[in-house]
Amino acid sequence: MNTRREFLKTTGQVAAYSFLFGHLYACKGAKVPTTIQLPADASFNMQFLRGGVGFFTERGGTIGWMASKDGMAVIDTQFPEQSQHLVDELMKIKKGKIDLLINTHHHGDHTAGNKVYRDLTDTILAHENSKKNQENSAKKRGNEADQVYPNETFETSIRKRVGNEVIDLKYYGAGHTNGDAITHFQNANIVHMGDLVFNRRFPYIDTGAGANIENWIKVLDQAKRNYDDETIFIWGHAADGYDIKGGKEDISAFQNYLEKLLEFGEKSMRAGVTLDELIKTTTTIPGAEEWTGKGIDRSLKAVYAEVGKE
Ligand SMILES: [Zn+2]
Repeated sequence: MNTRREFLKTTGQVAAYSFLFGHLYACKGAKVPTTIQLPADASFNMQFLRGGVGFFTERGGTIGWMASKDGMAVIDTQFPEQSQHLVDELMKIKKGKIDLLINTHHHGDHTAGNKVYRDLTDTILAHENSKKNQENSAKKRGNEADQVYPNETFETSIRKRVGNEVIDLKYYGAGHTNGDAITHFQNANIVHMGDLVFNRRFPYIDTGAGANIENWIKVLDQAKRNYDDETIFIWGHAADGYDIKGGKEDISAFQNYLEKLLEFGEKSMRAGVTLDELIKTTTTIPGAEEWTGKGIDRSLKAVYAEVGKE
């Protein structure tokens, strides 16, 4: 995509491109911008996907956003510096308040930038456990002064309207933590999965915040059932060279990782392998070798904690 953007920039077709698509959208009655001209020295990537909804990546969990003259919404905030970069770009599309900020869960690389929105939004929404986890984690780390917490929470589902878009949040139980929200932009048909999918990269499984591998697989079944084959899914994290967005086939592939991890954990524990031995001798999970990167120990520790309880 970078290459395409570069191409458009260098051939001076951005204006024509924007005009054409702006015009097409205008004909359909929705004035939704479709291109962003990033600063030449931008340290981040930011793109529209569809229907005024896009993504932002720089450092931390992928941010989702919606921006049109009718309304603005943001999902997750990375860190303050990154959030400021995003806000600067959003304000070029529409000056004023952000109608809705959502936290998919409490982890610092998704919420540390909340403070940038202190005066920019009236509503920060998250699952009720996400707020509790953020409070507990801040107490433990002694960084309570740095936190900006959600001021609205939900239990199983909630629906919000921003401009012409309907935004649905769902909670299906424990997965990556015990407070992961799945957000659906209905009209754009784009879903932000938070950290419920790590695309081809070893996941963080936050046992301390109620994560559960077995239930995580079921949560992903629900996501596949709820959304259709046209849905674009945004992932919290992806391995280098892999996309931060995708479709149901990527969700199935990650479910396979979790299933194989559970099997491997059960088998190893039954064979009397200690956790230390397991960590020393394992570089990939048998049957899910596509998953790589740093931090396989986090998967192994989590699976031993979970299997050991049974
Ligand atoms: Zn996370």
